[in-house]
Amino acid sequence: MSTDYDVIVVGGGMVGAAVAYGLTGLKRRVLLLDGADTDYRAAKANFGLVWAHGKGFEQPAYQRLSIEAAQAWPDFARRLEEESGISLAYERNGGLHFCLSEQELASRVKRIDAWHAQTPDISPTARVLDRNELERRFPTLRLGREVAGASLGDIDGHVNPLRLLAALQTAFVRRGGRLECNRAVMAIRALAGGGFEVSASGYSVRGGRVLIAAGLGSTALSAMVGLDVPLRPQRGQLLVTERLAPLLPVPASGLRQTGEGTVMIGVTQEEVGYDLATTAEGAVQMVRKALRILPDLARAKLVRQWACLRVMTPDGMPVYADSKSHPGASIATCHSGVSLASFHAGPYAKAFVGEASTAVLDDFHHDRFNVQKAA
Ligand SMILES: Cc1cc2nc3c(=O)[nH]c(=O)nc-3n(C[C@H](O)[C@H](O)[C@H](O)COP(=O)(O)OP(=O)(O)OC[C@H]3O[C@@H](n4cnc5c(N)ncnc54)[C@H](O)[C@@H]3O)c2cc1C
Repeated sequence: MSTDYDVIVVGGGMVGAAVAYGLTGLKRRVLLLDGADTDYRAAKANFGLVWAHGKGFEQPAYQRLSIEAAQAWPDFARRLEEESGISLAYERNGGLHFCLSEQELASRVKRIDAWHAQTPDISPTARVLDRNELERRFPTLRLGREVAGASLGDIDGHVNPLRLLAALQTAFVRRGGRLECNRAVMAIRALAGGGFEVSASGYSVRGGRVLIAAGLGSTALSAMVGLDVPLRPQRGQLLVTERLAPLLPVPASGLRQTGEGTVMIGVTQEEVGYDLATTAEGAVQMVRKALRILPDLARAKLVRQWACLRVMTPDGMPVYADSKSHPGASIATCHSGVSLASFHAGPYAKAFVGEASTAVLDDFHHDRFNVQKAA
């Protein structure tokens, strides 16, 4: 079979760009097809946390994956910056989850203990600090009076997500990959002798394998190759302030100060379907909580509010799966594409081409949603 590319990756967002970048590092001929500017693009509107602590509660495989990805981030970022020439503004000085009462703090202690107990072979990466300990650790923090403490994840951090996406695409092209924008894929057809023909409007191309990584566009595409993956949108709204003097030394869940000084405040989790509206209720909810943590924010001007859709699976874990009916076609999707970028560009890309064990992917097959098959 003669094909134009070894792998065609459909979707040039956070997941597709990271995998495509990884595959070119493994000397594969890769085409990355991205859709239209009007597509839902979580990569262009997210919060920018590289986060592990607390992730995968009651889901040890996802916990392990998140921890490994966060641990791999410093090397991944260094290399990506070198290859792309783009600074990611990545920092890994820890991440906080604030607790706003003694009761919340006590349940956080239990939750983090239970989270650590899920993977006893991994050294603890998080701890809970009471208010005194928190103030000693971060003496410049001016906390609201309700803050009782916080959990602190040692390997957590944050990054500029727009620069991350640009760096992945740039480094991918510099490694010899081909990126085509405004190529919304409309059909994927298995070829008789193996491989696939992928068609966008007025354009068609052949590849030995196809990876569907098109975010919320993946459901329609994966059905073309026998992959039935249930995905739903979940709206997240965010606010951003004007530039401020340093007031938050490390990122927190729902609050982070960027390298430029703006403070991002978020994030709602709303089941409203494909609705990108921003709402006053969402803004009020986010601002109220932020002010209870950092009252100094009351003097800040809000400069922007936006909404974006998360790519959610029913249980929140990623899906990595190969098609049984169309060998060579696969899907990769997750709701923490920033945090997992190091995994997608590294171990996932290697497993995809058979240069590493695929065992790590076994827990993430979408068959887990099919109760009859799983029984
Ligand atoms: C409000 C919010 C905050 C978030 N915060 C964080 C965070 O702090 N940390 C974190 O790790 N993650 C965060 N995320 C999640 C993260 O942004 C996503 O996990 C990630 O963007 C998903 O990557 P993706 O490639 O699957 O989808 P996307 O990034 O949405 O990209 C999908 C791409 O596929 C393309 N496409 C769609 N259909 C087609 C087609 N038919 N043909 C060709 N191309 C197509 C689109 O044009 C798009 O470029 C957040 C998400 C939201 C919404």
